[in-house]
This record gives sequence, C-alpha cells and structure tokens, in this order.
Amino acid sequence: MRSHLLNNTTAEHYRNTVSAGVERVAATLAATERPFSGIDVDELSPLVDAIDLDRPLGDAAAALDELGEVYLRDAVYFHHPRYLGHLNCPVVIPAVLGEAVLSAINSSLDTWDQSAGATLIERRLIDWTAERIGLGPAADGIFTSGGTQSNFQALLLAREEAKVRPEDFTRLRIFTSECSHFSVQKSAKLLGLGPDAVVSVPVDRDKRMRTVALAHALESCVAEGAVPMAVVVTAGTTDFGSIDPLPEIAALCEQFATWMHVDAAYGCGLLASRERRGLLEGIENADSVTVDYHKSFFQPVSSSAVLVRDRATLRHATYHAEYLNPRRMAEERIPNQVDKSLQTTRRFDALKLWMTLRVMGADGIGELFDEVCDLAAEGWQLLAADPRFDVVVEPRISTLVFRYIPAGAASPDEIDRANLHARKALFASGEAIVAGTKVGDRQYLKLTLLNPETTVHDIAAVLDLISGHAESYLGDSLDRAS
Ligand SMILES: *Cc1c(COP(=O)(O)O)cnc(C)c1O
Repeated sequence: MRSHLLNNTTAEHYRNTVSAGVERVAATLAATERPFSGIDVDELSPLVDAIDLDRPLGDAAAALDELGEVYLRDAVYFHHPRYLGHLNCPVVIPAVLGEAVLSAINSSLDTWDQSAGATLIERRLIDWTAERIGLGPAADGIFTSGGTQSNFQALLLAREEAKVRPEDFTRLRIFTSECSHFSVQKSAKLLGLGPDAVVSVPVDRDKRMRTVALAHALESCVAEGAVPMAVVVTAGTTDFGSIDPLPEIAALCEQFATWMHVDAAYGCGLLASRERRGLLEGIENADSVTVDYHKSFFQPVSSSAVLVRDRATLRHATYHAEYLNPRRMAEERIPNQVDKSLQTTRRFDALKLWMTLRVMGADGIGELFDEVCDLAAEGWQLLAADPRFDVVVEPRISTLVFRYIPAGAASPDEIDRANLHARKALFASGEAIVAGTKVGDRQYLKLTLLNPETTVHDIAAVLDLISGHAESYLGDSLDRAS
C-alpha cells in the first residue's frame, strides 16, 4: 500500500498515474459532442450505488475505466460552447496546471510553517487584486472557498464594525437590491441578525438598485432607531449582470456612515478588461469586495477572495491557538493567514491565478471576458429582433434573460409552462444547457455566456431548439385540451 503514497520513492508511479488520468480526460474532452448526455438521475444513480466501496479495484487504470461509466460519460461539460447555464466558465490551462501542482505539494495556507512561499504568493495576489480595485494602501484580504463565504466574511466584519452589542443585533439592517445574491440573506441568518435584517431595495428597468429608494430606506431605518449595518452593492447580478450605481451608493454609504460591500463575484472579470474597466467606477470606495475568480477569470472551482479597505478590520476573524498561531507569532510578524480566514486548513487555490497571470497575463483574461461581453451584445440584438422572444434587459456583462412567446393565443401560465418545458427538454436532449429564472411572477430563460468559443450561430441554434420544444409542448397541450 505504501507504493500509493506520493514521495521521493514513488515519483515514477505518480508520473504514470497522473499522466494516465490526464490522457483520459484529454481524450474525453476531445470526443465530447454535447455539453451533457441527457441522462436522468434514476438512470445514473443505480450505477453509482452498485459500486462496492469495500472492494477496491487495485489499480488506477481500472478505476479510471469505472469512472468513465459513472461520471465522465455523463458529466456536465462547461467547456462546451452550448453550455449556457449557470455562472461556470471554461477553465484556462495554466490554472489547471496550477491545480495539479497545488494538490501534489498540498501546502496548507493556514500558517507560515505549513506553506512558506505559498503564503507569500497568496499575499501578492491579494495585493494585486486590491490594487486593481483601487482600495488604497491599507487594503488586505484573503482567498476563500467562493462568493458565498466572501460575502459572509465581509458582513461579519461589517457587523463587528457596527459596534452594536449582541443583544441589539436585531436592530441591524443590511440594504441590498432585490436582484442581489441569496447569500446575503443566508449570511444575515448565520450572523444572528433578526428576520427583518435584510431590506430589499427596488431596482430600475435595467435591474440596478434605485439609489433614491436606497436613500429613503436608509432614512427610515435611522428614523425608526434601527442601525444601517451595510449596503451590499452588486457589481454584476447573477441573473442580469446589472451593476448597481457604485458612485451614488458610495456617497450614501459615506453620508450614513455605513459599510459598503461590493459583491463583484461575477463582475470582477471587468477588473482585467481594458475595454470595460470603467463599468466598475466607484468600486474603489468599497469597505469590502467579493471577487470570484472561478466565475470571470476562467479559474477552476474554487478560487475566490474577499478584499478589505482597512486591514485592521480582519482582526474580527482572528483567534489565537497555542498549537497553531499563538499571539507571539503575530508579534514576531510571522505571516499566518489563518489570522484572517474563517477556514483553518486551506487549499493553495491562489496558485491557479498565479500561473494564469504568469502565463497569460491579466490582459489575456480581460480579452476573453470582453469577448463574452461582446457576444452577449450580439445575442441581445438577435433576441430583440426575434418576435418569438421577449428579452428583459440589454446586457452590461454576459447574461441574456428572455422568454419564448408563442405567435398564437396562450395564457401567461401556459407560456410559463412552455418555457419550463423547453428548458427541461433541452437538458434531457443534452444538446444545450440553459438556465431559468423568474422575472416578476413569470418564468424566463437565461443564457450565461462565459465561453469565448460560443458563437452567435450557437445562440441562434439554441433559440431554435427552445422554440421547437416550446411549440411542441403548446401543440401537445392543445391536443390535450381538445
Ligand atoms: C455566484 C455568486 C455568488 C456566490 O458565489 P459562490 O462562489 O457560488 O459561493 C455571490 N454573489 C453573486 C453576485 C454571484 O453571482
């Protein structure tokens, strides 16, 4: 069994095993013709359940063969140009290389004595990101598992900075647009705030937070004796890619002495764009910022960070343990990243971004992101000119939200069902994957464009498929009615 341990004596075994895995994945990727096989859970789960985990296969080739059957054959492939579902990007090869290195070396970023250079690399990337945002000389931050954790940590800091005693936590309010990410609500709950803590601020036609409404909400909050703890500004809403008016909101945060958190989980790719960086103007006023490199920097999951304007605020996440990071180490200025993190043992995810920047550079990432934004603009023109579809807002980033509208008479409920059906039927066919959401009370479909290999032709073909599935559903429902 010791031959399976990765060490100085097993380098050859390691090389052969991992190479065989890489070979298998490369062959699979080269041969995938659609983003998904269309298999359903009732078909797939017996295959997984049938495997006896107490009877190992003994060698990697056999395990890879088996994996082909239970996973690779029926995986959802984000690299495919017709994967247009959620905020998942195709990944860049330098980052995948980083991933292979980081799991083999297996540094843990909690303390200097488990990571050495890895800690320094992570710190450089935090500084690099903070500088791109413009957070100023006292900025700092930490890599996290994702936007959800980043938002949670930012709101934890905001709660502590509000300087309210725990018995008064129910007086704290977080203001965020009705289109913001649900992790804001989840965080409020985890932070022990009251059920009314999150104040939902209406959006304008472009799905951006209405600043006038925010100003009113802040005023009423103060008038009622509640405490405005934070405004969560979204720079790239999950559904619409809309960017809240950052400069105006920054001014209100300053006026009400409220923590400004910018959730740029999706919009952070604009930090690397030479063409569109201006869309984030005002972000430099934030007290904290969430960035998800695994969304718009083409990084593998997980790769995310939370940045803060004032590094001193990170102390709210600091605890000292004698066995790990005793206080004297902080005094000796030994860089223990655990002092800033909610996690303890933590992956060296930063290496993926490091390799990406060292091979491609930020401009390379920005170019890829600009390409998908351009594609979304073209897709919008296509949809706006097509009488079969109702499209919601002109995209700022790279999502398109729309719904199929039949030429003949159909009730709004029937149209909802036809759109739901089209999404499901498309998924089951495996030909393309799209997402869905509600706008008002109505069911819409969504294309999230993060793949520069997707073309307008792909979008047009997917729209035809959707229309075909929706039509056949409506045709069948007419048959049922008659
Ligand atoms: C995706 C997303 C999140 C959550 O990020 P995870 O990495 O999935 O945890 C938060 N905010 C916005 C706006 C997002 O799009």
